[in-house]
This record gives sequence, C-alpha cells and structure tokens, in this order.
Amino acid sequence: MKINDHAPVLPYQANTQRYGNMPYRRVGNSGVQFPALSLGLWHNFGEHDNFSNARAMLRTAFDLGITHFDLANNYGPPYGSAESTFGRLMTTDFSHYRDELFISSKAGYDMWPGPYGVGGSRKYLVSSLNQSLKRMGLDYVDLFYHHCPDDETPIEETVGALDSIVRQGKALYVGISNYNAEQTRQALNLFNQLGTPCLVHQVRYSMFDRAAEQQLMPLLDDKGVGLITFSPLAQGLLSDRYLNGIPKDSRAANSKSYLQQDSVSQHLSQIKLLHLLAQARGQSLSQMALAWILDKPEVSSVLIGASSPQQLIDNANAIANLSFSEQELQSIGEILGQ
Ligand code: NDP
Repeated sequence: MKINDHAPVLPYQANTQRYGNMPYRRVGNSGVQFPALSLGLWHNFGEHDNFSNARAMLRTAFDLGITHFDLANNYGPPYGSAESTFGRLMTTDFSHYRDELFISSKAGYDMWPGPYGVGGSRKYLVSSLNQSLKRMGLDYVDLFYHHCPDDETPIEETVGALDSIVRQGKALYVGISNYNAEQTRQALNLFNQLGTPCLVHQVRYSMFDRAAEQQLMPLLDDKGVGLITFSPLAQGLLSDRYLNGIPKDSRAANSKSYLQQDSVSQHLSQIKLLHLLAQARGQSLSQMALAWILDKPEVSSVLIGASSPQQLIDNANAIANLSFSEQELQSIGEILGQ
C-alpha cells in the first residue's frame, strides 16, 4: 500500500441518483436482476495495488449503479488479497449498502498447496468459501461459482457441494464458469434434480472471442440460465489504450499479466478500424465493444475490469447507445473476419 493511503478520506455517501441511469437485466429465469455492467476485482485490488484507487473505483462503480461486484478466492496478487481489500472497504464504506450489493466469489483454480486447495471437491469448495467469507467479512455471498471444470472430480460431488452451500445459507445462488456446453448440460441437469437452480454461467466473450456463440449461449438461453460475460474488452485490447503503443501502466506492459504484448500487435489493425467505426457512432471503442455485447438479449450483464474510476465512467456511458444498424454489424463482422 502507498503512503498516501493514510491521507484522511471523507465518509462515503453513495450518489442518491445511482439508480437513475443503469439498466438492470433479469438473470435467466430467476427473480434477480444484474446491472448491465458489473465490476470484477481480478486486477487492481490486490495487496500491491493502490488502496485509494481501489476504494475510488468501488465508490464510483456503486455511484454509477453498478451493484454487482465479482471476486474469486485467488484474485490478488497474492491470492486472497482482492477479497481482503474488498472486505476492508465493505467495513469502512459499504456496510450500510450490503443489501443493495450482489457479491460473488469463486473457487476452482489453485488456491493453497496440497490436494485440497484446487479442483471441484466438496472439501475444497466448502473450505474455500469459508475462507472467502472471513476475508470479506461477510456472513454470506450472493453468488458462489465453481470457477472451472474439474475432470477428476465427479460432477455430482461438485454440484452437490454447491447445493449444500446454498442450503447452509453461505450463498444465496450458485453458478459455474468456464464449463463447455456438454459439461454445462450435465451440471444443469444435476442442479435441477437437487432443486438448486444454477443462476448464471460466467463466460469469456468479446468481439475477439466469440466461441460461446456456437453452443453455450443457445444452451443457456434455452435452459433459462443467466449469462455474464467476462473480459468483454479482451483485457483492454478493445479500447483506445493501445492505439499509439503500449503504455507503461497498461495491463499488456505488466509481464505478470495474462495479456501478452504479442496480442496487441496481432490485433492492432483490427483495433484501429474498430476505433474508427466507434467514432462514427459517437462512441469510444470500449463503449462500442460493451454495447455490442449488450445488444444480445440473452446477456444478463457484462463483467468489466478497470484500473481507474475514469475508465468506469467512460464504460458506463456505453449504455447511451446500445443499438446497432445492420450496416454497422456487417462492418464489425468484416473487420473481425467473420
Ligand atoms: P476487461 O476485458 O473489461 O479488461 C479490463 C481492462 O481493460 C482494464 O483493467 C483496463 O486495462 C482496460 N480498460 C477498461 N476500461 C477501459 C477504458 N475505458 N479505456 C481504456 N482501457 C480500459 O475485463 P477483465 O479481463 O479485467 O475481466 C473482468 C472481470 O471478469 C474480472 O475482474 C473477473 O471478475 C472476471 N473474470 C473471470 C474469469 C473467469 O475465469 N471466470 C477470468 C477473467 C476475468 P489497463 O489496466 O491496461 O488500464
């Protein structure tokens, strides 16, 4: 944490107009609605990140009507530290707003050493959620996901563990992430047999990654399961961030991030063309990329990341223009080579 983190901070009073602009969308066939944009804490909320900036981002998000915050046990670095940062801010800033927030966490990828800190076993999921609740200072999460499929654990065990977590009141809803269509079909059948419906599937989806369109999206739509899309800006590629090189403070410049500099050069010509198209619509590229996803009615929410409050403000303005002409969609398809 930086030294200026100790500067006095005014008590937080949320914007009284926070529900004025953000659209809310029903999640599948459930009774719950998500904001069109949700905020993920994968990056920029860890122990080594600037706490004041993390706090400003959460406050800005909530002021914009972003009521859904997405975490996972291993967000940081180090693992667990995004949940700890969030827990600190829940206490100082958001405790009065707990019931206005929809908070998710996950387990599945590696979290602690040994056989019980990874996968889809009942042992791992239940103990990991207990740890997450402690770090966040919460009695329950609104949504708990199995983060990724685990071929070595019977799906019955994983789904059964999620069902018990709901019955114990530690999560109100459950979801899955990164499951392919066949794994999803199996899991949904089991959830239904147990009487704990799967609320939502968290799927990677953007203009640069449309694989989910083939089978997964039609399946979720057919089954009435919600769809929340992660990395909608392809980790920042679908923005004006890289138009003139790789800024030092960008995700691609961070050698420890998953966004490789090669991806920037591979996509740069498309990024430039999409940027021009967005300008012609009166939007930034990030706004157009988010609007393009929100144009699909089966999408419950688009799960964005950010490194500054200003990016959140820019991205929230995407909702000013969510519709596309046939000509615009065709041009986007041509630029993407689809
Ligand atoms: P995005 O594709 O939205 O990328 C976010 C990054 O894009 C920001 O950190 C920033 O990068 C850049 N950016 C955002 N807005 C702007 C803007 N207006 N102008 C310029 N650049 C901008 O999403 P993420 O990849 O961060 O994923 C979002 C969330 O999805 C995660 O936090 C997590 O909750 C979830 N997720 C889930 C996964 C899963 O397996 N279930 C996997 C990955 C993510 P910069 O730092 O360069 O400024």
